[in-house]
Parts: sequence; structure tokens; C-alpha cells
Amino acid sequence: KKLGIALVGLGGYATNQLAPALLQTRNIELRGIVTGTPSKIPVWVEKYKIPEKNIYNYETFDRIADNKDIDVVYIVLPNSMHAEFTIRGAKAGKHVICEKPMAVSVKEGQAMIDACKQAGKQLAIGYRLHYDPFHLEMMRLTREKVFGAVKIVEASDGFRAGDPAQWRLKHALSGGGPLMDVGIYAIQGARYTVGEEPLAVTAQEFPKTMPEKFVDVEESLSWQLYFPSGAIASSFSTYAAGVNRLYAAAEKGWYEVNNAFGYGGQVGRTSKGPMEIKHINQQAAHMDGVAMSIINNTPNIVPGEEGLRDMKVIEAIYASIKAGGKKIQIG
Ligand code: NAD
Repeated sequence: KKLGIALVGLGGYATNQLAPALLQTRNIELRGIVTGTPSKIPVWVEKYKIPEKNIYNYETFDRIADNKDIDVVYIVLPNSMHAEFTIRGAKAGKHVICEKPMAVSVKEGQAMIDACKQAGKQLAIGYRLHYDPFHLEMMRLTREKVFGAVKIVEASDGFRAGDPAQWRLKHALSGGGPLMDVGIYAIQGARYTVGEEPLAVTAQEFPKTMPEKFVDVEESLSWQLYFPSGAIASSFSTYAAGVNRLYAAAEKGWYEVNNAFGYGGQVGRTSKGPMEIKHINQQAAHMDGVAMSIINNTPNIVPGEEGLRDMKVIEAIYASIKAGGKKIQIG
């Protein structure tokens, strides 16, 4: 029997990625929507056969507690709304998948973990790459030390941000710039490609080339993570141009994924040759994987704690920038 999921927030990611992926999932299916924009409802009703009783807005959301069709709520709202809706979802007795970054602070992230624990419900973060075969291969090459121990990782993620009015450029809604939005993939990539947890960070923000656009958030930044073994990861994140790469230099060779963090199109190589790996639908694999963990009552592989580790790194990066690049220990 499939689980039922409700998407909370019907923006770009929910509309163009998650809902279509839910037509391919085996363990979970789309049964409800939560939206603040009534004009979106007819399209969703027609396309996904959502019954009237499974449609909520942000005010009526808590009534989902009484809806047996819905087992999981998936929070796909602007970052500053993740904590509130995750906690409300848990209090309504639902398992929660929450998009990245899990929150805009460590404090909020911890409150989300606590709320789900208290409700006896799973919390999973939208870390789709933990189900992507190219990234699983990077993790395996590290874990099995196929090229020896990893010494250096380069992990960068950025894109050219369009619409100057979008919530991503408003600190109150995003909690920060490219670091919050896509730099988090570089942090993730560095952590699982080194295979350790970073101890400290140094970070630098670069001068804005479009200061009228990036009033509220950083435009470009870089940081360096220092790991217990002595491995170092160097990363860049930006809203100025496309950069998208995960590269590991180990004692006896290298391995990498280009177009690393996109929804598809990964190109993997090692110093021995190309990675012969098929692309999959990451979103379907992610939601099916989390659903399987819920069904079997086993921990999911992208829990709130995983999101919280990244929030700690993010706070340390911003603290280092604020302190003029000083080395900051990660809490
Ligand atoms: P989007 O701007 O396309 O959609 C945001 C949605 O939130 C819209 O439906 C909007 O109506 C709604 N909303 C409610 N209150 C709002 C407010 N006060 N201001 C602005 N919008 C408001 O954004 P998106 O790209 O769908 O991103 C949503 C979340 O999903 C973000 O947390 C983002 O980081 C995450 N995301 C994750 C991935 C991934 O690959 N895992 C990809 C894209 C986005």
C-alpha cells in the first residue's frame, strides 16, 4: 500500500520536479496540496486528480491532522517558512520531508528535529543526491578508499540568479544568498566525499558586481573546510554565473562529477576513466526511499540531523566572513 503525500507550497520545484516525479514513485503518491494561491488549484485538481477534501491553504493546514489520506507532508516553501510548517506538520501527526536548507538557523533546525521526535514522526530533508547513483559512487570511492585517502576536495555550486524580485534575494525569506540555496550542496558534497565531519572553516565574501541586485544577500563567496584527517575542501558559491562541480584528489588518483548538483546530466570520471552509470529520476528515488523508511519504520538516510550538520557549517561560514576570514570552529 502506497503512502499519501501532500505538497506544501506549489512553486517551481513542487510543480516542475516533485509532482511529475510522484507519477513514477512506487511507495508514495500525491494525494493533497497546500497552497496560498487559489488560482493554482484547478490545474492541480485536473492534472493530479486531487480531491477537494485534500486541498488546504496555509491557515487551514493544521486540519490535515484529521485527514487519513495524508501520511507525509513535503514542505517546499521559501526557507524561512520551513521551520514553522515542519513543526505544524509534525504536530498534525504527519511525517515531514522538508526542503533544503532545512531552516535559516541551527536553532530552528533543532526545534524541527525535536518537534518530529516528540510527535514520533520521521523528518527527512530534500537531499535528493543521497539517492543519485553518481553521488553514491563518489561516496563509495571514498568509503572503499579505491584511490587511497582523500586529501583535497573542490566542490562548487552557483548559477546566475534572474528575477531581482525573487524571495531568494530577500534575506528575511531566504536566510542568505547562494550559500543557503546551492552552496549547501557543495558543503554536502565535501562532507560525503571526504567522508568526515569538518572541524573548522575559513570563509571570504567577494565584492558585489551587481550591488543593486544583491542588496540583502551575498553575491559570491568561498570557504575552506578543515577535516580531522587533514583533508581540505575548497568551495565556491555564487549567484553571478553557473559553476557546478565536485572533485576529489586522493593519494593515488582522482574522481569527479561535473554538472554535479543538477537534476540530471551528471558526467562522472575518475583518473581511470569515465563512470558508466545511468541517470535516474532523483526526486522519485528520494521520495520512494524516504517512504520505504517510513513504511519499514527504519531511519531514513537524510534525517533532520543531516540537515542540522549543514546548518552548523553555514553558520560558521557566515561567522568567519563577519570576523574577516578568521578560522571558526564548527559547533
Ligand atoms: P518558488 O519561488 O518557485 O516557490 C515558492 C513557493 O512558495 C511559491 O509557490 C510561493 O507562492 C510560495 N510562497 C508562500 N509564501 C511565500 C512568500 N512569502 N514569498 C514567496 N513565496 C511564497 O521556489 P522553489 O524553487 O520551488 O523553492 C522552494 C523550496 O524548495 C526552497 O526551500 C528551495 O531551497 C527548495 N528547492 C530545492 C530544490 C532541490 O533540488 N532539492 C530545488 C529547488 C528548490
